[in-house]
Amino acid sequence: MKAAKDKLLDASPKVAAHWQLIEEQGRVECNLCPRNCKLRDGQSGFCRVRGNRGGQLFTFNYGKSVAATEEVIETEAVYHFSPGKRILSLGNIGCMMACTFCQNWQTSQIRHLDVNAVKSYAPTDVLEICQEHNIEMVSWTYNDPVVWHEFVCDTSRLLRQNGIRTLYKSAFYIQEDPVRELIDCIDVFSISLKSMDESFYRQVTKGKLGPVLDRIRQVRESGRHMEISQLVIPKLNDAPAEIEKTARWMIDNLGNDVPLHFVGFHPAYRYTEVSRTSTETLLQAREVAFSQGIKYCYLGNVYQDGVSDTYCNCGKLLVSRFGLSSTVVGITPTGHCSDCGDPSPIHFALEAQSLSCADRRDTRIADRQNRFEWTTEISSLHLSVKGRPVVEPFDVTVKHLGTPLVQNVRLGGGLERVLVSKKSHRSDEISITWNGPHDVHLFPVLDLSLIHI
Ligand code: SF4
Repeated sequence: MKAAKDKLLDASPKVAAHWQLIEEQGRVECNLCPRNCKLRDGQSGFCRVRGNRGGQLFTFNYGKSVAATEEVIETEAVYHFSPGKRILSLGNIGCMMACTFCQNWQTSQIRHLDVNAVKSYAPTDVLEICQEHNIEMVSWTYNDPVVWHEFVCDTSRLLRQNGIRTLYKSAFYIQEDPVRELIDCIDVFSISLKSMDESFYRQVTKGKLGPVLDRIRQVRESGRHMEISQLVIPKLNDAPAEIEKTARWMIDNLGNDVPLHFVGFHPAYRYTEVSRTSTETLLQAREVAFSQGIKYCYLGNVYQDGVSDTYCNCGKLLVSRFGLSSTVVGITPTGHCSDCGDPSPIHFALEAQSLSCADRRDTRIADRQNRFEWTTEISSLHLSVKGRPVVEPFDVTVKHLGTPLVQNVRLGGGLERVLVSKKSHRSDEISITWNGPHDVHLFPVLDLSLIHI
């Protein structure tokens, strides 16, 4: 397996951006993230996907990603930008941090890399998948996009030239100059602030808090859309005093209207001795945030009515949400509250709601079927087409039993996975039907939002 891993990393390296030669030491210094790894010829950095080869810094993961997946924007802890928007999610290999609770450790931590999970994409491939599936936004996500910088920037610029927006989901342990480049080509930032405690960063993530806070302020000053999320982890950062520090810092540095998401933790990687975060703890965290003056606070990964709705100052319900589903109910086509007329805090509120291909009645006859019963723990699934890449796209119909909702999704054509989630407390089961020779597999997703943190 080591040989396969080395082969994968050695294949088509590219000269990296953001480094300098330290001639007197015979090393190159990488300046992409605050680690500033100083590397002799042949050495790789902490992330294991950048290294000194012959006196130049190379990136080894250009275009290398887990399978492209169609999801909705809510999976990225983004609630104030085009609710319900379909996105294409791509995630690289390697990471500049080493969080003990990482859910993506098989791709983020190179020593555990499963090479079979890795695909190769050119920027034009990403554009073609979007065009084939009529997807208008790409998300750089899963394990952190920081160490994918060159591919992210090249592809985001190409996508922008073709009218496709981009979203950057990151722990944001990165330097100022690369962020300046990102601000020029990324539309939405979703930043995972893990704690306000320096020792938490040092011990649990192997990073530092200060640079993360500086970069968050940099994005805020740029005016780009930004939302903040925090994984609430039992015994590590779930005390009300810790939550209060996060809310206080946001109020003092970003203002009160940047959305804050609290996301439940599920035991993973090296932090498995505790249980998952309770809904009560998340609700308490939300109350603490509100008491500090945060205007918009949401709970990620909680499939319950009334925990993540958006209200206008006048009390009018603007957007109702259940899990990853959103319904705009109180915003006019001009983006104002339908009761008091104040501007809504949601950008492009109706854009995706009117364009969504979901939620319509199906009339086709299918010859293949699968069913899945939602459980307390599992409220999301990946529908996946396995085996050889399927060139021709094919349609899959998902009926949310117990409700009138029917969702049509497309697999194939470069898209191997589509996310489907529970859409209403009334739905206990889904029925999945399709035509054609391909097998559609169902992979339960335990804690969806955690995958992106
Ligand atoms: S991006 Fe990688 S090589 Fe560069 S400084 Fe960070 S950990 Fe080191």
